[in-house]
Amino acid sequence: MTMSDTTAPAAPVVPTRGRLRPLGLDEVRITGGFWGDRQAINGEATLAHIESRLESEGWLPNYDLAVAGTLPEGRRGREFADSEVYKYLEALAWEISRTDAAADAPLEQRFRRVVARVAAAQEPDGYLNTMFGRPGQAPRWSDLEWGHELYCLGHLFQAAVARHRTRPDADDGLVEAARRAAELVCREFGPAGRDAICGHAEVEVGLAELGRALDEPRFIAQAALFVERHGHGSLREIEWGQEYFQDDVPVRDAEALRGHAVRANYLASGATDVAVEGGDTALLDALRAQWDRTVERRTYVTGGQGSHHQDEAFGDDWELPPDRAYSETCAGIGSIMFSWRLLLATGEARHADLIERTLFNVVATSPASDGRGFYYANTLHQRVPGVPADPDGTSKRASSSLRAPWFEVSCCPPNVARTFASLAAYLATADDDGVQLHQYAPASVRTTLPDGRVVALDVETGYPVDGNIRVTIVDDAEFTLSLRVPAWATDAELRVHSGDGVAEHPAAPGTVDIARAFRAGDVVELVLPLTVRTTAPHPMVDAVRGSVVIERGPEVLALESIDFGADIGDAVVAGDPVESGGRVALPVRRRSTGEVVETPLVAYHDWARRGPSTMRVWVPAV
Ligand SMILES: [Zn+2]
Repeated sequence: MTMSDTTAPAAPVVPTRGRLRPLGLDEVRITGGFWGDRQAINGEATLAHIESRLESEGWLPNYDLAVAGTLPEGRRGREFADSEVYKYLEALAWEISRTDAAADAPLEQRFRRVVARVAAAQEPDGYLNTMFGRPGQAPRWSDLEWGHELYCLGHLFQAAVARHRTRPDADDGLVEAARRAAELVCREFGPAGRDAICGHAEVEVGLAELGRALDEPRFIAQAALFVERHGHGSLREIEWGQEYFQDDVPVRDAEALRGHAVRANYLASGATDVAVEGGDTALLDALRAQWDRTVERRTYVTGGQGSHHQDEAFGDDWELPPDRAYSETCAGIGSIMFSWRLLLATGEARHADLIERTLFNVVATSPASDGRGFYYANTLHQRVPGVPADPDGTSKRASSSLRAPWFEVSCCPPNVARTFASLAAYLATADDDGVQLHQYAPASVRTTLPDGRVVALDVETGYPVDGNIRVTIVDDAEFTLSLRVPAWATDAELRVHSGDGVAEHPAAPGTVDIARAFRAGDVVELVLPLTVRTTAPHPMVDAVRGSVVIERGPEVLALESIDFGADIGDAVVAGDPVESGGRVALPVRRRSTGEVVETPLVAYHDWARRGPSTMRVWVPAV
């Protein structure tokens, strides 16, 4: 295993303070199971698929055209096409670390080839964008509402952070390119520069992390300046209002996330970073309150966020229609980014609960089984069977009602790729006393606490198919092992198997701490009851009143027409769900005939994997 010579963990988010310390990809490894399978497909298929599309769509060749001087005529893709290249680089950087790829491995060679093409297009003063600034193109920073120049740089910064924290001696030019671009941003948009923000938040979270990674406080200060500038109406009024850009209300005065759901979550993530770095408890408290209200009133049962198609935005409180749920994959990833930062800052298990819900029911839903197709939107109710996408074609965002290989706006595929490649970083954390497990997957955890104690443990589990989680202590050590018991796991059991026998331990939902002198071979066994649950909606959500959703463990289940044998518009719940052999069936009455059919349910993340169907998550009970 290649060890970084920096002291920071090889992780996407490394605050300098906070309740919990993240662990890096060299400290936590996912060794198989539900997420291990997806990481393998991501590495084997998705990354190559993305690079091939970045080439064929012209988004990577744009950089070559910049060098050749023919960009204004030849440029292809939307304003934000550069950002997909950077998310791809970020995914590659994490994947190289995850698989411990050697310097001459194909993955590393691919990474270096792409970086060389990108860096060659950077201008002498650090500016880097293929859409603006050359003769024949619009001037730099001339369209802050829609130009996405700072947004793209934010993704460049995140890619550079991934590389710096995983291969600090790589010297491939990516970190230097990011540093020069960040210095340009500070010059152009600093306190004495343009009093402006980007129409799509992202540069805030990118600058804050680059500042942490390179120990450059001015980058964090610039991120804080961008956060504070939101909410003062500096962006042009558009048809969806300034809340679309989160430019309607200052971040610290807002009561909930609103407007475009990806923008809102990226901004909240960057705002959390600057609040933590600056010790700004008022801002952090405001963000925590916004998270609470957003999760209670503006979040689907899947963890999905964003009710509106036309502006990809949050609705009002309680406006959560299942059949027009937009629930963009990227909004789910943004929500995980925000929740993860709050978890590190506060240690509160509910943030990890939402991460789990969103991972299993939004992020895992997006990719096709072969890793070469994606959902952009994740509706909770499909009324008309989808039409299979052309495998060589390009879909408009959510118009494909089945997973599609690529989109005109293709933010989601590389976002899934970077999330899967770095997923181990979200499983566990450490503090002065021990290690905390937040998500359950087969994994190995090896870390050293600040006082030198070494913690080594292995996690074995078939989660979420079964709820047994066995944590084996590998080396003798006295420390506190903390386990998250999900809010739904009201009958969890916890036992410690040691040389002294078996000790039962309370396991109420939340965080359970086991402080002891562990011996090698001790096993902590957590049993999460995967009893099927029938969940009623909050009474304020009019759109699903009278319906129920069936859940099992962290998974939301769905009713598909292919199992029902008829359109799901004809379905009414006729009894309690029954489970046998790990399969769940629901007695469903056909409204048209009165016939009751015991119908298998599928995990929502598996819907439409057998071809086009109609589907619903919320099933009418009346
Ligand atoms: Zn997206």
